[in-house]
Amino acid sequence: MPPIRKRFGQNFLTDRGALTRIADALQLTGAETVVEIGPGRGALTDLLATRCARLIGIEIDRDLVTLLQARYEGQSHITIVAADVLDTSLGAVAGGPYVLCGNVPYYVTTPILFHALRPPRPTHAVFLVQKEVAERLVAMPGTPEYGALTVNMRLAADVELAGHVGAGSFFPRPQVDSAIVRLRYHAAAAPDDEEVRAFVVGLFGQRRRQLARALRTVSGCEATVAQQVLERTGLAPDVRAETLAPGQFVQLYRELRGRPA
Ligand code: SAM
Repeated sequence: MPPIRKRFGQNFLTDRGALTRIADALQLTGAETVVEIGPGRGALTDLLATRCARLIGIEIDRDLVTLLQARYEGQSHITIVAADVLDTSLGAVAGGPYVLCGNVPYYVTTPILFHALRPPRPTHAVFLVQKEVAERLVAMPGTPEYGALTVNMRLAADVELAGHVGAGSFFPRPQVDSAIVRLRYHAAAAPDDEEVRAFVVGLFGQRRRQLARALRTVSGCEATVAQQVLERTGLAPDVRAETLAPGQFVQLYRELRGRPA
């Protein structure tokens, strides 16, 4: 076996039950193209490959790529790509509709979640992530876990928790527990998606401030403009961004830009 490379976030899942729960959460029919992020030693790949029409694994560690390519030689529906997933167009490697799966490395979880929002997006995805990240993804407005990550992911997908996986299910054992999350992406990305995402990040940078003030700081608009925008969106000037529902951020942004939702 190749050495375990901590810098690539290598905590391999060894618990058969946990692997099965991840694969089950994808609810595959057998006809799908699955893109797997970081197949590692192939524990999850083995399971997924029996449940789909095609599987493409994207692995950064060249030694593991060699191992995987040898392991799946002769299984023509499995392709292992040697690449950094963040430099790879998921839609292009899939070549058509696809679902996404991965026990994703902790060090790069958030960039991977955002990378998966680039079109063409998967229809749905299942990720094993650090428990705290999962809690942020499903958080309700007004709670400490609710933030820019919550809002920006929920504007793009319906997110649900599909189970917990303890640290003891991995080798080497990580410092944290994990959770399985399932995302069902909304059909299409809006043209102003990226601008809205930056706006949300800006407002959460001011999460303790009242919205009228935060809006002025983030957009550079006059106090009167901020007030009018809030009136038109039916929001009180003294509410805080952290209490808004995801859709209200879009409404606010579009009112501000003169493009009501
Ligand atoms: N799927 C395997 C499992 O469940 O046992 C391995 C999971 S391990 C947490 C993460 C895997 O992602 C490792 O194999 C690691 O080498 C790979 N990886 C880390 N960073 C990556 C990147 N930027 N692009 C592609 N693969 C990456």
